[in-house]
Amino acid sequence: MGPIMVIAETLDGGLSDGAREMIAKARTLGTALGVEVAALAFGPAARAALSSAAVNEAVLVEGADAADYNPEAFESAAFEAVGSRSPVLVLLASTTLGMDVGTGLAARLDLPMAAYVTALEPDGDHFNVQSQVYAGRLTADIELPFGAIATVVPGAFTAEGASGSPGRMTEQPAVAAPHMVLKRVLQAEGGGDVDITRSDVLVSVGRGIQDKDNIELAEEFAQAVGGVVSWTRPVVDAGWLPRGRQVGKSGQTVKPKLYLALGISGAPEHLQGMKDAETIIAVNTDPGAPIFEVATYGATVDVLDLLPHLTELLQAGGSV
Ligand code: FAD
Repeated sequence: MGPIMVIAETLDGGLSDGAREMIAKARTLGTALGVEVAALAFGPAARAALSSAAVNEAVLVEGADAADYNPEAFESAAFEAVGSRSPVLVLLASTTLGMDVGTGLAARLDLPMAAYVTALEPDGDHFNVQSQVYAGRLTADIELPFGAIATVVPGAFTAEGASGSPGRMTEQPAVAAPHMVLKRVLQAEGGGDVDITRSDVLVSVGRGIQDKDNIELAEEFAQAVGGVVSWTRPVVDAGWLPRGRQVGKSGQTVKPKLYLALGISGAPEHLQGMKDAETIIAVNTDPGAPIFEVATYGATVDVLDLLPHLTELLQAGGSV
């Protein structure tokens, strides 16, 4: 049987959290199935990132054609690597890159693929997989045969056991994209100044904050509590805050220790990005708001009344 292959993404010179989680999962699966684990990474950060990965083989796709993300070039390189190894399973993250490359690979290699995977275990000659559908509103149970592709929701697995050093490093030349030309890379629109996926405390505001001027209340509270402000999509659509810190299906997936949902209704598209936070505190004037179904603690009060009091308390040295 071929290896389990992880197509790993890099971030700030190291492996992304999602990549580390998939490597840890691949190791457990590899032990259960008696197969090797290989990880592939692209670009100038690939070597440094994979040098601390506990895998049997690290595949490095370096060179000018892998310097920046080009879906066509990355997919072609992954096609070469996967096609020549016949893996029992290919894991990618359910991110823009993972979905681009995963779907392309599935089509070119004629392999079955499950997306938005949150659980995956071997069973006889197949994997039993759980996959989010309809923006996380439903979970589908899927039997995925050996020799398949899965894109995994970041945060679905723990990263414990991902660190180590690779048994061997293989260099694979990058492939030039014949059709798609990368013109330039734009920095994320404002709000990308802070990586909300790395913050332990998120003070998240929704349309219930009611006015752009009230966001200052959340900023002051976040500062007092040692957190970072994030937000929902309507707040972005209203032009109150930029897209970089939007949480949810079309924004970021976060898993902080504490997520405060202030004036957020709890639509499935928002829940998809934050429901796995360790502790969720929801503040909403509507006791029937769906956010309370996932909240650890909830308060049905006006967020505009509550925030100044909490900030004052914290600034005076009290605790919330
Ligand atoms: P609302 O649903 O309007 O909720 C506001 C809440 O505030 C209400 O529950 C209300 O009771 C409460 N409230 C009002 N005043 C107060 C007050 N003074 N004090 C306390 N509570 C108050 N949304 C995202 O967030 N992220 C995404 O990534 C995302 N992606 C999407 C992708 C697609 C394809 C689609 C179709 C939608 C997406 N959405 C996303 C939008 C999503 O469907 C919801 O519309 C959105 O999450 C609702 O945001 P909200 O909770 O801020 O606003």
